[in-house]
Amino acid sequence: MGVVPFVFGSAKGIHSGLAKTRKSLFGRILGLLSGGEITEELWEDLEALLIQADVGMAATVEVVQGLREDTARRGLHQAQEVQALLHDRLAEMLDVPCKPYLDGERTLNVVLVVGVNGSGKTTSIAKLARYHRARGDQVILAAADTFRAAAIDQLRIWAERTGVDLVAHQPGADPGAVVYDGIRASRARGADVLIIDTAGRLHTEYNLMQELKKIAGVARKQVHQAPHETLLVLDATTGQNALSQARHFQKAVDVTGVILAKLDGTARGGMAIAVAGELGIPIRFVGTGETLDDLAEFDAREFAAGLFRRDGA
Ligand code: GDP
Repeated sequence: MGVVPFVFGSAKGIHSGLAKTRKSLFGRILGLLSGGEITEELWEDLEALLIQADVGMAATVEVVQGLREDTARRGLHQAQEVQALLHDRLAEMLDVPCKPYLDGERTLNVVLVVGVNGSGKTTSIAKLARYHRARGDQVILAAADTFRAAAIDQLRIWAERTGVDLVAHQPGADPGAVVYDGIRASRARGADVLIIDTAGRLHTEYNLMQELKKIAGVARKQVHQAPHETLLVLDATTGQNALSQARHFQKAVDVTGVILAKLDGTARGGMAIAVAGELGIPIRFVGTGETLDDLAEFDAREFAAGLFRRDGA
C-alpha cells in the first residue's frame, strides 16, 4: 500500500458535499441555537429538526438527552451555548471506534463492495479504484454482479476510464468463480487491491444474501482473512430507508464500513449520524459528486464541522 495522502486537485471534499445539508436543516438548527434561553420548547424543536435531518429517532433522542444533561451539569442557560456541545456530541457519535481502512501489511487486499442497485455502487467502485491508483496501488476489479449484463458492461467502462484491469465472466456465470479468477489474476499480476462488485438485486433478498455469503466465503478460502474490507454503499438521499438496508446486509456479511454516496445530493446528511450511532458501522468514504475524483475519506470532526460552519459553500 502506498502512503501518499489522498488529495485530488479538483476533488470536492466533505465540506462541499455537505453544502445542502448545512444550508437547510442544520442552518435552521444553528438559527434555533443562535439566541435566547434554553427552554423545553427549544429541546423539542431541536429534536424535530434533527429527525428531519435524518439523524434518526434513536440517535436524536440520545443526542438531545445528552445535551440536556450537559447543560444542566454545567449550569448553562443560553441556547447559544448548546451549539458547541451539539457539535461535539455529533462528532463523538460519528467517530465509531474502528481499525484504519485496510490496516495491516499484506500482499493482496480484498475489498468486497455490497449495496442495492442504484445506491451508487458502481460509481463508488470506480472512485475507490482511482483512490487506490492515486496511492500507487495496482488495482484489479472483479465483476461478480453477473445477474445484470449491464453491470458488467458498466464496470468495464469504468475500469477503462480508471486504467485498471477487470476480471469478468459472461452474464449468468457463477459469481464465486469470478471472485476465484479475480484472486488468481491479482496474484499473477502482483496486484495490491482487488475490488469485487456484487449483485444489488436477485430474484429474492434471501438469494442475494446467500450469494454475498458465498462470495465472501470464496474470498476467505483463497486469501487469509479476506475480504479485508466489506464496504456497504448507501445512498445518502434515501435517508432512513438506507438504514434498514444496512441492517439486512449486516445480517449476511460482516460490513466493515460504509461508503455514503450522493452526500452532495441531499439536505439530510444527518443520516451519517444514524449510520454511525445506531448501526455502529464506521463511515469510510463519502461520495461528493458524479466524477471519479468526488470521493472523500471520512473524518468525523471534519464532518461535524461541515454541518455547522457558516463560511464558504
Ligand atoms: P449502482 O446501480 O448502485 O451501481 O449505481 P451507479 O453507480 O450506477 O449510480 C447511480 C447514479 O448515482 C448515477 O447517476 C451516478 O452518477 C450517481 N452517483 C453515484 N455516486 C454519486 C455521488 O456521490 N454524488 C452524486 N451527485 N451522484 C452520484
